[in-house]
Amino acid sequence: MSEKRKFQAIKGTRDLLPPDTELWNRVEQTARQVFTTYGFGEIRPPIFEPTELFARSIGLDTDVVSKEMYTFADRDETSVSLRPEATASVCRAYIEHGMHALPQPVRLFYTGPMFRRERPQKGRYRQFYQIGAEIIEALQQGQGGSKDIPKDAAIDAELLEMLMAFFARLELHSVQLEINSIGDRNCRPKYVELLRAELLKVKDQLGQDSQRRIDTNPLRVLDSKLESEQAIIATLPRISDHLCADCAAHYAELKRQLDLRGVTYKENWRLVRGLDYYMRTTFEITAQGLGSQNAVCGGGRYDGLVELLGGQPAKGIGFAIGEDRLILSLQEAGKADVPKGRDVYIAWMGATAQATAIRIAKVLRENGFRVELPPVEQKFGKTLGQADKLGSRYALILGEDEIASGQWTLKTLADGSQTKFTEPQLLDFLRG
Ligand code: ATP
Ligand code: MG
Repeated sequence: MSEKRKFQAIKGTRDLLPPDTELWNRVEQTARQVFTTYGFGEIRPPIFEPTELFARSIGLDTDVVSKEMYTFADRDETSVSLRPEATASVCRAYIEHGMHALPQPVRLFYTGPMFRRERPQKGRYRQFYQIGAEIIEALQQGQGGSKDIPKDAAIDAELLEMLMAFFARLELHSVQLEINSIGDRNCRPKYVELLRAELLKVKDQLGQDSQRRIDTNPLRVLDSKLESEQAIIATLPRISDHLCADCAAHYAELKRQLDLRGVTYKENWRLVRGLDYYMRTTFEITAQGLGSQNAVCGGGRYDGLVELLGGQPAKGIGFAIGEDRLILSLQEAGKADVPKGRDVYIAWMGATAQATAIRIAKVLRENGFRVELPPVEQKFGKTLGQADKLGSRYALILGEDEIASGQWTLKTLADGSQTKFTEPQLLDFLRG
């Protein structure tokens, strides 16, 4: 006899089940509704791509590319990876489909699974879900430079306005938007060198991770949550004091635009992003009730990324919401109510009642009600117990008497009260 093996979902992955999936659907539906009103269309890129696409865009020195990707050789030996994020795919698609020829900017959103080999914990999974959006704009002849700043900043601000409108629509009010500017290729390298020099002076007082990052990615030291490093980090030079004139003007205009739109935000000079391609505007949104995994959204501007991936020069900005964490946060905030159980359980007995039960079940379902119709006849006592267990709101009782008189009995399960209705009266009552 062959041994029975019990299979389990792979570590860091999980099944999303009802009734939670109702909430997931509501969140995605809300994103679709809100984003559509801001002119976004949906893109569904594949979940695996050439490894090179991620390596080039996200950067080789990032944790994501250096150790978190699921990478394998395809049959023809090309290296492919499960996507750790989707911005690179959206840019690849923008180039591949010649979207620079469409009216600019192009606004796209996506939802779907991402994959990163991280240590699983609350709010951190190896397969997780993101809802994201990107605004990409090919540079036209004569465009670019300082005169674009008001337009770029307005695009950034509108994207953030939309993001906050989405959270508001979900009634998640505990979210906090933090913004920063991390400069561009003119000013950031000089700041990074200054930061590196200052960090070297205090190297002995830093933890191992930060010591390593002095070499590989000094900006990431600012991100450190290590208690012993906080006092030192507070004394480090701030990028806001070292932005070039254009970056400073862009950041100032972004803040003015956010004020104009009534979007509240907090400035956080230590906010840097883990992916290489960001410049100028960066932001993060945190929510309550998530412990240390409290970032529900991250994003920023990535002018130059499309070109880096082989396209015409273009600007871009986008965000990715961590849907798993958003769901947790909604549940913590008590905003996770979804319809459960059934609206109507049809308790029928007898052959003539069955025909009526089948017919009325169909009518009710056509009207959008969630209906449970027992497949075989059951004693009323048993069937009403079943209706209760399923969390039904009403039981519609159809016995020989009800069929004969045309007066059906509707029982409200919460208080046990009963009312008689004819069929048209019943439909009117249920439709409210
Ligand atoms: P973190 O600092 O928490 O690792 P990140 O900076 O790596 O986040 P991004 O790459 O900016 O995250 O992705 C955007 C959002 O996706 C995050 O704010 C978070 O909500 C979510 N996210 C990222 N990694 C995971 C994961 N492993 N599990 C669940 N959600 C995740
Ligand atoms: Mg991460």
